[in-house]
Amino acid sequence: MYAGPVQELIDELGRLPGVGPKSAQRLAFHLLKLPKDDALRLARAITEVKDRITFCTRCWNVAEGDECGLCADTRRDTHVLCVVEEPRDIVAVEKTQEYRGRYHVLHGAINPIEGIGPDQLKVKELLGRLDPEGITEVILCTNPNIEGEATAMYLARLLKPLGVKVTRIASGLPVGGDLEYADELTLGRALEGRREVDA
Ligand SMILES: [Zn+2]
Repeated sequence: MYAGPVQELIDELGRLPGVGPKSAQRLAFHLLKLPKDDALRLARAITEVKDRITFCTRCWNVAEGDECGLCADTRRDTHVLCVVEEPRDIVAVEKTQEYRGRYHVLHGAINPIEGIGPDQLKVKELLGRLDPEGITEVILCTNPNIEGEATAMYLARLLKPLGVKVTRIASGLPVGGDLEYADELTLGRALEGRREVDA
């Protein structure tokens, strides 16, 4: 439809989550109109993260190097794991200042409609941490929506027989919502009021 590079840019932007063909076109023309320096700053930021940032080999948070800053922090409680869906959820939990343990990032939630099952998530990796790290409690901190609840139930059934204490953050979070949008106080209380899961 457009000259080669323009169409390529529209196609690439259209592959981003939540960006439909119309938005992709709008963004592409916005970038075309930007001063070259501004547009290249975006290109450089993308190159930089792809060059320098990987995922933590322990918890799958974003990391510069093998381990993320949280796993490398010796002041943290290494026997408690807070399981979240995405690295950005760690930021939400950290903001509450109610949690001093480590994390495990699943990189998604169980979602049969989109074909995402436990095998697509970092579940095997979670199980592999329990014994070597002497984990005593796993806090299921997935989103309070259908996918997050299904994931929490699945993990609870998997983890309970292994003799580890499994807790789920308390309700009080807006149902159907995302952790990252919860305010610190609400999420902090939900963590404090976590309950053991019957599975
Ligand atoms: Zn880590």
